[in-house]
Amino acid sequence: MQLDLAPYAACDENSRGRRHPEPAPFARSEFQRDRDRIIHSTAFRRLEYKTQVFVNHEGDLFRTRLTHSLEVAQIARSIARSLRLNEDLVEAISLAHDLGHTPFGHAGQDALDACMKGSGGFEHNLQSLRVVDLLEQRYASFDGLNLCFETRDGILKHCSRENAKALGEVGKRFLCRQQPSLEAQLANLADEIAYNNHDVDDGLRSGLITLEALAEIDIFARHLAEVKTLFPTVGGRRLVHETVRRMINTLVIDLSRQSAENIRGAGPKSIDDVRKAAPLVAFSSEIEREQRDLKRFLHKHLYQHYLVARMSNKARRIISELFDVFAEQPKLLPPQFQEQAVKDTPRAVADYIAGMTDRYAIREHRRLFAVEEG
Ligand code: MG
Repeated sequence: MQLDLAPYAACDENSRGRRHPEPAPFARSEFQRDRDRIIHSTAFRRLEYKTQVFVNHEGDLFRTRLTHSLEVAQIARSIARSLRLNEDLVEAISLAHDLGHTPFGHAGQDALDACMKGSGGFEHNLQSLRVVDLLEQRYASFDGLNLCFETRDGILKHCSRENAKALGEVGKRFLCRQQPSLEAQLANLADEIAYNNHDVDDGLRSGLITLEALAEIDIFARHLAEVKTLFPTVGGRRLVHETVRRMINTLVIDLSRQSAENIRGAGPKSIDDVRKAAPLVAFSSEIEREQRDLKRFLHKHLYQHYLVARMSNKARRIISELFDVFAEQPKLLPPQFQEQAVKDTPRAVADYIAGMTDRYAIREHRRLFAVEEG
């Protein structure tokens, strides 16, 4: 149990609780219990075989959504401790934040969203909440994991007004323009630190981006120069690791300092004050600008690289062909999705496809479309 929490941190005592009341946990906090439930879920295990930029089988060294989520949790926890925020809650949010992602990263999400046009659309963030609220079926007396309000609120990073209205309590803050807990704000920015840096690392490892090209970006150039001055003989992967690790460190320190200053300035006394204030967890404006430049670079040179585009194109085809065949013939769905398909076929199909790992989607596509010889 974490002692010395700030008065504006989330804690068991100020939690808005679970949708289905349960006895208090033994020897762990409510948010530790949430974290543990997430780790034991099926969707969490599947993160190992889902990717963000590269397809899972392209190499053993690239990040998967599982290692990404662990990196987010690590970064978020260090900062949470320095700000005296609830580490268990940031960990739970970090580990759950990507549970709703489709196979094949952004390409998969876009393809599924296009398939769901006219049927409510598909949004991975909303799907993560759907996974923990509904789709995980492990408990006898309720669907989902029955997580605390604050964990669910943190998972729901953004949401349209229309969806917010349908979500009830957890959607309210989007309608009255309030903030989530500081823990949720922190997990969100830790996500950004993690993916920008590991995409640099994976991008360099794959050869899709080069050190020379990256040296145009201030935040990278500054840290690269520092490492070269301190260790003139170091090269190759070690040079990349030293640079990336220093970049992460700079971002973590900047986020901790700037957020501490913002919190001091706003002077929240409780979690309710935090909800009514402007966002308080933030980078300094200088680092914010540098991060934006890095993001723009990654978009242009990595996410839109022709080799990534080829893979994305294949991913889109797999997802949309799977969607069409199941939507036309729901009888081809596994039994547990057929019941749901009677009520809402497109949503049942989207839930089934979103739950697939990269390799499962490829195999399922082959099972349905390949005509074997002989
Ligand atoms: Mg993420």
